[in-house]
Amino acid sequence: MLFRQLLRPVNTCARLAQMSSHITNGASSQGPSGGVALKDLPKSWTFTANLPADSAFPSPAISHKTPRDDLGPRMVKGALFTWVRPEEAVDPELLGVSTEALKDLGIKPGEAETEEFRQLVAGNRLLGWNEDKQEGGYPWAQCYGGWQFGSWAGQLGDGRAISLFETTNPETKARYELQLKGAGITPYSRFADGKAVLRSSIREFVVSEALNALRIPTTRALSLTLLPHSKVRRESTEPGAIVARFAQSWLRIGTFDLLRARGDRDLVRKLADYTAEHVFSGWSSLPARLPDDQQDTAEPPSTPVKKDTIDGPAGLEENRYARLYREITRRNAKTVAAWQAYAFTNGVLNTDNTSLMGLSLDFGPFAFLDTFDPNYTPNHDDGMLRYSYRNQPTIIWWNLVRLGETLGELIGAGAGVDAAEFVEKGVRQEDADELVSRAEGLITRTGEEYKAVFLEEYKRLMTARLGLKVHKPDDFETLFSELLDTMEALQLDFNQFFRRLSGVSVGELGSEEARMQKAGVFFHKEGVVGDEAAARERVGAWLDKWRVRVVEDWAAQGEEVTPQAEDERQAAMRAVNPNFIPRSWILDEVIRRVEKEGEREVLGRVMKMALNPFEETWGGDKDEEERWVGDVPREGRGMQCSCSS
Ligand code: AMP
Ligand code: MG
Repeated sequence: MLFRQLLRPVNTCARLAQMSSHITNGASSQGPSGGVALKDLPKSWTFTANLPADSAFPSPAISHKTPRDDLGPRMVKGALFTWVRPEEAVDPELLGVSTEALKDLGIKPGEAETEEFRQLVAGNRLLGWNEDKQEGGYPWAQCYGGWQFGSWAGQLGDGRAISLFETTNPETKARYELQLKGAGITPYSRFADGKAVLRSSIREFVVSEALNALRIPTTRALSLTLLPHSKVRRESTEPGAIVARFAQSWLRIGTFDLLRARGDRDLVRKLADYTAEHVFSGWSSLPARLPDDQQDTAEPPSTPVKKDTIDGPAGLEENRYARLYREITRRNAKTVAAWQAYAFTNGVLNTDNTSLMGLSLDFGPFAFLDTFDPNYTPNHDDGMLRYSYRNQPTIIWWNLVRLGETLGELIGAGAGVDAAEFVEKGVRQEDADELVSRAEGLITRTGEEYKAVFLEEYKRLMTARLGLKVHKPDDFETLFSELLDTMEALQLDFNQFFRRLSGVSVGELGSEEARMQKAGVFFHKEGVVGDEAAARERVGAWLDKWRVRVVEDWAAQGEEVTPQAEDERQAAMRAVNPNFIPRSWILDEVIRRVEKEGEREVLGRVMKMALNPFEETWGGDKDEEERWVGDVPREGRGMQCSCSS
């Protein structure tokens, strides 16, 4: 590595100096004491220390001395990862860094401009590995499987992502696993090349940080690196890139799926224990069984019940594995609710892309809806619309049922889960029926909880997006449903509607005429589909219902909303209704300008908007900002893209 660095052509140094001004200008300010140097980051390898390694490369040292090309595709059994180092990246060009990511990882701001950083995020540095002694922490690729488009796909795994280490932010105590996507082949690459193209890397880099800024649980992106010498064959030849991404955990439902498919019950248990103990904050942090009279409320009792097994109504004792399943379910329910509330579609919700932590994960043909169309499916190749916007809640539950099936034996064992005979040999024939019916009962009940948590979170978010303080039972029908139907019928832009509504004061909606006048604010520049007067009437009628609810929530009984309350409500709405959304047409423009026209600064500007989506302006290029938050050009609406990345 040192050798490579010494031989690095001098012009990259000069280029780096020029670039350093733009790569971090997504800046939001950082306190003077914030962050440490890369070398001082507290690093750990908890995943590899606690879970079994690929037996073909049982130690980092053995993997390290294996020629890189010999670490290619194979079946890996009885293991959850393989030690594998990133490929050498020649002349990596650091294109962008997320300042928010630096902050959350606890890395000091200036660090992104160092040579050490550039080499680390390109895969040319192994921090923690002692080359002389051939020991220390070493990178790895995870082994998992997955259900893809409803069919079992077998072993998948990190085919082009390689994790470097975990790091714990000393202040927040959050531990993240840092991973390089596009870092070369691994045993899990199957027929593919281990690379990622610049196009999809730009998309992942921006959307990861955008979702996080929208407070939607997601994996994150630290940096984007261009590999100038890497030519990647997709439909055409494209430049290669690496995204340094991080997450509290990269475990997916697909990780469990593969173990189940292979009948590896010991490892299922081991992974479940690992998930509770090291991914979540220990067994006692998991939700306790809801008392019977709270079955359909979303929040678990605040004090977790310490007893491991609790008797349920119909013999559905819930042991700790049932509680783990519920935790994973609840997190995913909340995330999918946020996707629906912000009209985000992942595009490929296979179980290998469904996080145990409920993080938005793996960004291929994702998109935010432009005009509201529940059937919108961003993936051009998904002709069955399996992963359409409207199907997301159902599909995530479908995926969670696969997980329930894997955990079923542990869940269904109830209080007997730790009995020595069960641990060793599994359920006795004569107890099998009881185990299966208990597991089914608990999975079904968790399904009810999934629905309840989903709805509760969706209502919470939509209530806030509409500027209301409380959710009233009628709101769902009268406000939410009617609004969505109206948006769909008139082909209005989903996210723009809420942002524009944020700036409407109820005083402007006093008469039918005023409301019909105001309705035009929500139309596209070229007007609205169908009869304009009817459209104005429909939107006006909705605005009237909304006005009544705003007055209920923001004014004293029988009075008008005061100007102060009106300001407060508008500010609250602007804080939850983004002005900037990284829509497909914008990302396409950024990709073209970076890839084809050699622009660089544009990436910093789009990242700054993504990191601060609720602002009015960002102090960048005024015309560009106005264009990107304005009406979506007709040809740019509802774009689709392919899976190739
Ligand atoms: P995805 O559709 O991106 O979730 O990927 C599905 C599986 O294919 C995962 O196991 C990926 O690691 C793998 N994969 C996708 N693209 C590549 C590639 N270019 N090289 C190696 N593996 C890949
Ligand atoms: Mg994936």
